[in-house]
Amino acid sequence: MLIVQKYGGTSVGNIDRIRAVAERVVKRREERHGIVIVVSAMAGETDRFIDIAGELTGKPNERDMDMLLSSGEIVSASLLSIAINSMGYNAIALTGMQAGIITNTSHTKAKIEDIRAGRVKEAVDSGYIPVIAGFQGITEDFSDITTLGRGGSDLTAVAIASFLKADICEIYTDVDGVYTTDPGIVDKARKLEKISYDEMLELASLGAKVLQARSVEFAKKYEVPIVVRSSFNYSPGTLVVKEDSDMEKVVVSGVACDKNQAKITIRDVPDRPGIAAGLFQSVASNNIVVDMIVQNISSDGKFTDISFTVPKTDAKSALNITKQITGELGAGEATVLEDIAKISIVGVGMRTHSGVAAKMFKTLSDNSINIMMISTSEIKISCIISLKYTELAVRVLHDIFELEKE
Ligand code: ASP
Ligand code: MG
Repeated sequence: MLIVQKYGGTSVGNIDRIRAVAERVVKRREERHGIVIVVSAMAGETDRFIDIAGELTGKPNERDMDMLLSSGEIVSASLLSIAINSMGYNAIALTGMQAGIITNTSHTKAKIEDIRAGRVKEAVDSGYIPVIAGFQGITEDFSDITTLGRGGSDLTAVAIASFLKADICEIYTDVDGVYTTDPGIVDKARKLEKISYDEMLELASLGAKVLQARSVEFAKKYEVPIVVRSSFNYSPGTLVVKEDSDMEKVVVSGVACDKNQAKITIRDVPDRPGIAAGLFQSVASNNIVVDMIVQNISSDGKFTDISFTVPKTDAKSALNITKQITGELGAGEATVLEDIAKISIVGVGMRTHSGVAAKMFKTLSDNSINIMMISTSEIKISCIISLKYTELAVRVLHDIFELEKE
């Protein structure tokens, strides 16, 4: 078997952890598997670098930031390689560039354009264990170091696994796998044995922090099988794979919540073509990502209300932009509400089962939780509710859909 293993920040968080990971790797090697390692920076390092740069200036140069941040992964890759080598096995530490991760030039959120991991393959073929610095790449002309966005080591691992056609990409973290919901909120939350890429994608973008969303997209596209598991024990983890017919039998696989959103509402917006286009163009040109949008039918054919959600960190600037536009359009007041949460249920079974939304809404209403906004996809229903009901909503939905049961 050829196995790509990615170890996250807490897994390599200190010297003892690095030693423990090295032992784990060597043990696997003893079973005669080909092994490629990808690592994150030691826990907290990336944030520490960001804070230090922030003390120098409010707006650090992005190229410089990429150079700075990429150093964290270089440190952990080197140390892990040193540890493995010291145990009498052959390891070779590689930067993102040396591993052939070629990206575009979008600093701090670069996209992978090509994978030229010939050197990684040669190393494996000659019995070495490559230890690759995750989260980083190099531009096509080899002139600039880039990073792949927060949590990007997952993407490095999946990309390398797809290039090598690895049998499995193991993502090691500090939790046992993917749960039906946050076990910190519902103690009956159950670890899932298996989940589809699409479900994982929804859960990842909804704030389940086990896998970076872009790595799941990549894995889906190239059908890289992933297993999420803990580096602190030998529990089997959760498989993230292509959908199979079994999965459809389960209507809801998980409940997620996201407390990082804010809702902006504009009243009395003139109801004519081009208004929404103008508003959202301005928001987008300020690099603010809009999630949900609701526009009401106007009762008099002249005015309507529009609400949309943005990440909490962008709420102030989104409100300012909106106020400017409402002024120009002759619309009414724009207000922001920060005390909200997005609560979602996810499951591929929704494609083939009816009544799921009704059940969700009824359950919320039975618990006197008001729904402010609703959005749906084929396999997801999300509601915006008041922040203070987040935990209650997660619990009652987990109960009603019987997620604690196999
Ligand atoms: N060290 C980077 C981060 O903290 C990348 C990663 O951990 O995957 O976002
Ligand atoms: Mg991570």
